[in-house]
Amino acid sequence: MPKKPFSIAIDGPAGAGKSTMAKALAKSLNAMYLDTGAMYRAFGLYMLRKNAVNNTAEVARCVEDVEVNVRFIDGAQRLFLGEEDVTQAIREPEVSMAASTVSAVPEVRERMVALQRKIAEGQNVVMDGRDIGTKVLPNATLKIYLTASAEERARRRCRELEEKGMPEPYEQVLKDMIRRDYQDTHRAASPLQPAEDSVHVDSSKLSIDETVELMKKLALEAIERA
Ligand code: C5P
Repeated sequence: MPKKPFSIAIDGPAGAGKSTMAKALAKSLNAMYLDTGAMYRAFGLYMLRKNAVNNTAEVARCVEDVEVNVRFIDGAQRLFLGEEDVTQAIREPEVSMAASTVSAVPEVRERMVALQRKIAEGQNVVMDGRDIGTKVLPNATLKIYLTASAEERARRRCRELEEKGMPEPYEQVLKDMIRRDYQDTHRAASPLQPAEDSVHVDSSKLSIDETVELMKKLALEAIERA
């Protein structure tokens, strides 16, 4: 009998390396990679442009109208607001905080979770975010909770922003990261927390390759067991 598709859920705080590791893991397992944070970012950008990020009623209303489209072009995920490609724009630091704020609104989570499940349906998938193991894919083949110290995460984020030509001072990045972690872990709707059955991986002292190797080993064991 053919095996049913597998799903790997990767959750953790900002800057833990989820997207880098998840992308590499998906490639090595020949699975689809879905970056769910990008979807909240696209909607956060939409609300930023409307100057209404903190207007909860407006956020809840707009999520019904907005078209957040995920497309895969040459194997890479791209985000669109309607037909506008916002893949680059959603990486601006102010969009990070906007995404965190709008993602606390239950109507937004409901819409995004439904979209995420639909995109991944019937496929081998590696998905990363904050609520993948607890909410989006509660029956995932493997759940990983990926962490690293706040300082290490801030250093990595600084490097990433520099590479993208958007450098920010370390102290600012660390402060924003701690604030965003607090907001993500203390919201009422699907707060960031490890799923009970998740495997914790601390990448503070591991290289990217070592982390991906470890995750791949865990994934292959879980797929074998399923
Ligand atoms: O992962 P990334 O940093 O791009 O996510 C941006 C924000 O989107 C997070 O700070 C979090 O508030 C929100 N998010 C979420 N649930 C997810 C993915 C991201 O609430 N599954």
